[in-house]
Amino acid sequence: MKKKVGHTNSEIILVTGGAGFIGSHFIKYISHKYPNYKIINFDKLTYAGNLNNLTGLGDDQNYTFVKGDIAVNSDVENVFEQFNPSFVVNFAAETHVDKSILDPNIFLKTNIMGTQNLLNHSKEQDVKKFVQISTDEVYGSVQKDSPSIEDEKISSNNPYSASKAAADQLVRVAHHTFKQRVNIVRSCNNYGANQFPEKLIPTIISNAMNNQKIPIFGSGSNIREWLYVEDHCRAIDLILHDAVPGRIYNVGSGIHYTNLEITKLILKQMDKTDELIEFVEDRKGHDFCYAINSEKIKKELNWEPEFSFASGIKQTINWYVDHQDWLKEIQSGDYLKFNQKVATEGLMEDFR
Ligand code: NAD
Repeated sequence: MKKKVGHTNSEIILVTGGAGFIGSHFIKYISHKYPNYKIINFDKLTYAGNLNNLTGLGDDQNYTFVKGDIAVNSDVENVFEQFNPSFVVNFAAETHVDKSILDPNIFLKTNIMGTQNLLNHSKEQDVKKFVQISTDEVYGSVQKDSPSIEDEKISSNNPYSASKAAADQLVRVAHHTFKQRVNIVRSCNNYGANQFPEKLIPTIISNAMNNQKIPIFGSGSNIREWLYVEDHCRAIDLILHDAVPGRIYNVGSGIHYTNLEITKLILKQMDKTDELIEFVEDRKGHDFCYAINSEKIKKELNWEPEFSFASGIKQTINWYVDHQDWLKEIQSGDYLKFNQKVATEGLMEDFR
């Protein structure tokens, strides 16, 4: 079915992985900015998916949650047939590098096969724009003073990143071979409210709140670039609506910290002692530095990050301090069971 290119004020947007960290922020952002858009949140609700991230939206007539797996073709077919989306934004993914090192297969299934299923149905229904949420990790480790540009060679060093890189290639193929209107967004590390406490910043805040040791890989000298999640959502909105199909955009803040620096900074802000820091054995194949050049999105789409690290991290810490119930619920549920199981059996089977 042919869809008119361009956008109206009543689009149907399929957001996959919308119960996760960035996807839930994006849904709230879109629902606020485009109140007439119909938003379909399609999520498998893995251990990382949490509908509490979307509290308040449940009563909105323009918001629908559909439980489903992007890697299961019939689930994807059903949601496309039922809603006939005009836009697709794919956040759904297995996202934790350490888990990918323990057990890569689910990463290949969700991140690669899942993306291809979404592309197939987007092609069939002539979706106006498909946006793939990728990551700076696909470029591999780089020098901080020579940040990656979009046409840099892809050079993944862990199963998570390799699966995201493979998905990027499939999205590229969809445009090159099938003329699908796609974009790829490669952002640096995000931080903000509602991030699952397996990732660095929520781990630091949560452990610090409870005066627990904060594990830091190796010597803590690995460097990451940090972007406040709302700045990422604004960039995705611009790319979805205004970017020329086929283009890839880096989305970064230009703010870099070593893991040790960021830990000390947060501890200071929380009035906690550095003695909580505990150095642990380094991650296998740990990339030393991610850094991206984001001039393209600035020039073409007039995007700039709006949040300084000082203001973003203050809001993030305050959110976790004010939402300890959110953390407790997660930490007493699947997440804890998951970690216990991995620790004792090294298996992820029950959590797929
Ligand atoms: P997250 O782990 O918080 O959430 C992932 C969501 O996807 C969860 O709600 C989960 O239930 C869902 N999901 C997983 N497998 C699924 C499947 N097979 N079918 C349907 N839903 C499924 O992830 P996040 O941090 O919000 O990341 C979102 C996207 O952004 C990912 O694609 C990730 O690669 C990318 N990204 C994240 C960051 C970051 O710093 N968090 C940085 C750059 C890019």
